[in-house]
Amino acid sequence: MTDATTGNDHEVHDVVGVGFGPSNLGLAIALDEHNATAAPGDRVSARFVERQERFGWHRGMLIEDATMQVSFLKDLVTLRNPTSGFTFLSYLKDRDRLVDFINYGSNFPTRVEFHDYLEWAAARFTDQVDYGAEVIEVEPVRPAGSEAVELVDVVYRKGSTTTRLRARNVVVATGLSPALPRGVTPGSRIWHNKDLLHNAAQLTGTEPKRMAVIGAGQSAAESVDYLHRSFPTAEVYAVFARYGYSPADDSSFANRIFDPGAVDDFYTAPDGVKEMILNYHSNTNYSVVDPDLIDGLYRTHYHERVAGKERLKFCNVSRVADVVEVGDRVELAVESLIDGEREVITADVVVYATGYRAGDPLWLLGGDLAEACNRDVEGRLDVRRDYRVGTDALADGTPVTVGIYVQGPTEHTHGISSTLLSNVAVRSGEIASSIVSGGSTDAGRPSGSPAVDQLDAVRTIR
Ligand SMILES: Cc1cc2nc3c(=O)[nH]c(=O)nc-3n(C[C@H](O)[C@H](O)[C@H](O)COP(=O)(O)OP(=O)(O)OC[C@H]3O[C@@H](n4cnc5c(N)ncnc54)[C@H](O)[C@@H]3O)c2cc1C
Repeated sequence: MTDATTGNDHEVHDVVGVGFGPSNLGLAIALDEHNATAAPGDRVSARFVERQERFGWHRGMLIEDATMQVSFLKDLVTLRNPTSGFTFLSYLKDRDRLVDFINYGSNFPTRVEFHDYLEWAAARFTDQVDYGAEVIEVEPVRPAGSEAVELVDVVYRKGSTTTRLRARNVVVATGLSPALPRGVTPGSRIWHNKDLLHNAAQLTGTEPKRMAVIGAGQSAAESVDYLHRSFPTAEVYAVFARYGYSPADDSSFANRIFDPGAVDDFYTAPDGVKEMILNYHSNTNYSVVDPDLIDGLYRTHYHERVAGKERLKFCNVSRVADVVEVGDRVELAVESLIDGEREVITADVVVYATGYRAGDPLWLLGGDLAEACNRDVEGRLDVRRDYRVGTDALADGTPVTVGIYVQGPTEHTHGISSTLLSNVAVRSGEIASSIVSGGSTDAGRPSGSPAVDQLDAVRTIR
């Protein structure tokens, strides 16, 4: 422990959450609701550490009229406890907009409004969250007289001060990281779309001539639309490998993939079936665009062609062969995948809307704690049904009994809703129950599930 380290070694929290986005906010609510009815001895103490200076949910993409891609009923709590004071409806009532929202007539609020709802909920936990604080390590702790690693120290840095919070359970919910193609470094003119609004604001008052957006997913289409509307004299190039944008499947049957019950199905399915489900339904979430936005962009493009003033341009079936920042411009070499022909676009700004990736959530684990976490043959984390990571003893044989939970990077075990909001309410309740009961709610993964080829065989016989 360095001199700059603070923290009370005598205080042990039941839960320390790393990150305070919607996932751990949902958990804070679930624990709060547990405490409200629990006997004093059964109450759970929780603290959260968040590196942003204040609560924020993808602030760089809070485009004014962008709507949620999930029903408002899939808020932080309704699917677990519809009578909670933390529902989106409670928020609307509090903001005196309940009746107006009903008349609004949509299940899909704007992202700006949903952000306000999340902030409203987060504000009720201010005393449990250390903002502006980045967790740098989670260290195993074997209390004096104990044979096992029963606790962890969550070590965080805030300015020049290092603090540690001691916990019986740690819940890592640090979200996804922006993905850029290899060799691309973000800068003042090369952005990831996560910074779209903040960086575009820097261009206010300037008149960019040409901008390019790489990618064909929802964020890419939104970025194209936003830049085209915000800079009325600029040409906006959309560059992607597809022939055109593909619509997100938001139909009723397909939406069942996000149901709480789908997590049970997915969890118990054989690996081959898991892969099959993810492939069949990737078009509910990955590299797809809201159909209204696709229609809007197409209409804009067509109207511009009619008027003979084309500002919105599409380089489809194309890839970026090279990108170089030269002075106050970016030279973007775009290569057709059909005939290999190259076009160099001299742009003021290039926006990479190339998605997000799940990093290894356990990179924070220090000592040999990370090695004690079980993984499958492909190196993926063994996450139990209750989101607790399966652990072995440390290399020196010391048993590990501390609870290590993850929210988010569990698509391989819990399915496609893992990184989304759809299941936050129910998942939070499941994690809270597991923690309250000492991590014993989980039966682990069932064995002996049939392989995918056996299922096919059964169907054929029928
Ligand atoms: C633009 C955009 C729109 C989206 N819209 C939807 C939607 O409509 N519906 C839907 O279901 N999903 C949507 N998603 C998916 C999104 O992943 C979820 O909405 C949600 O953000 C997941 O919450 P989370 O708390 O798990 O992760 P995050 O929201 O990413 O929160 C993680 C938090 O952890 C903090 N953190 C990270 N590392 C550390 C550290 N070392 N120390 C301390 N704090 C740390 C981060 O600052 C962050 O606040 C959208 C995603 C994007 C990018």
